[in-house]
Amino acid sequence: MAKKEELECSFCGRKKSETNLLIAGLDAHICDRCIEQAHGIVLDEISETEANGLSAELILKRPLEIKNFLDEYIIGQEQAKKVMSVAVYNHYKRLLQPSSKKDEIEIEKSNILLVGETGTGKTLLARTIARMLNVPFAIVDATVLTEAGYVGEDVETILTRLLQAADYNVQKAERGIVFIDEIDKIARKSDNPSITRDVSGEGVQQALLKLLEGTVVNVPPKGGRKHPDQKFVEVDTRNILFIAGGAFDGIDRIISKRLNMQAVGYGASKNEERVDEANLLQYIVPKDLKDFGLIPEIIGRLPVLTYMNPLDSSTLRAILTEPKNAIIKQYEKLFLMDGIDFSIDEKALQYIVDKAVEYKLGARGLRSLCEAILTDAMFELPGTDEKKLRVTQKYAEGKLNNSTLSRLKAVS
Ligand code: ADP
Repeated sequence: MAKKEELECSFCGRKKSETNLLIAGLDAHICDRCIEQAHGIVLDEISETEANGLSAELILKRPLEIKNFLDEYIIGQEQAKKVMSVAVYNHYKRLLQPSSKKDEIEIEKSNILLVGETGTGKTLLARTIARMLNVPFAIVDATVLTEAGYVGEDVETILTRLLQAADYNVQKAERGIVFIDEIDKIARKSDNPSITRDVSGEGVQQALLKLLEGTVVNVPPKGGRKHPDQKFVEVDTRNILFIAGGAFDGIDRIISKRLNMQAVGYGASKNEERVDEANLLQYIVPKDLKDFGLIPEIIGRLPVLTYMNPLDSSTLRAILTEPKNAIIKQYEKLFLMDGIDFSIDEKALQYIVDKAVEYKLGARGLRSLCEAILTDAMFELPGTDEKKLRVTQKYAEGKLNNSTLSRLKAVS
């Protein structure tokens, strides 16, 4: 048999035997390697177009639209949603300023500081904003950050996370949003004289300053410590929106003290408004943060300050079913995928809320409670003839009493 000439890739010239796969076209062939390379080029082109097209898309989102979008996912927290909407709008307006047009007025960055108890939706708020704007989003925990040279992570690793979220597209990362959680944990511990070197406090705040304001940072793309052999990626943080969040435990005492001092001081008679003792965070001002231990420069670089309300029982009840991706809606969907019609009684919902309040679990606890109640059903029902699950209060009580969560009562 005469040997036929071996087919080859029309792009790179590799013989069929040198490839894993050779696909035939009309008059040409392409090998697996060239397909991958071409795919990479297509992706790069698309993301570049997206990055350039970002501005046109962004201008369409007015504060009211941003707020309406947030309303779909976040219950209550009206003031925080409003303040965030304006801050984000202004931030992206700032990005849209043509850089060539140099006039006197330079719009400053509107980094945001969210103060509120844990589980009140700070992360959710930041994440939802990023989702709406379709920009890369990274969450970092301030507690792991330390000054360069100490055990822990350098502040640059914040940007490593953002780069990862942007699939290493620097241009995209430079327009992203970073949520720095637990910013209160790096407050200066001034009342602790035993700390001679405040490794994780003021030092980190200092290191964060430049990042928040806008600078070009050499970022180790794979994270970890900087070392000489690692290649760095330059990231400009000027247009990255930083949202910091923290519970600031004990700041209510600082606020209360300040308010009381105002009440007895000059102008007290004019200041007759009653103070809502149950939610003092609503009166927070930058000075309270300084008294708490944040350095003034950091406070200055997080100029938009707002607060989250504690979640009461009616908010918790709404969180269960109202947001677009509410927990109960998620279970409905999960069961439906097995052809099971899932429903839950109002009394059972109220029971879950009461338990979350009783165990002081907040909104995060709603999820664990639902899991504890529904795990048995999710384990047993798929594949059986049972096509309906109706959760009553009795059912919920029964399941919860048998779960480890019910032991929480003993410790609280
Ligand atoms: P934080 O960052 O303040 O500690 P999270 O944003 O992580 O709180 O909230 C924890 C979870 O609680 C969220 O994933 C969300 O399901 C739920 N949650 C909290 N607050 C709200 C809210 N206002 N509306 C809807 N869901 C909420």
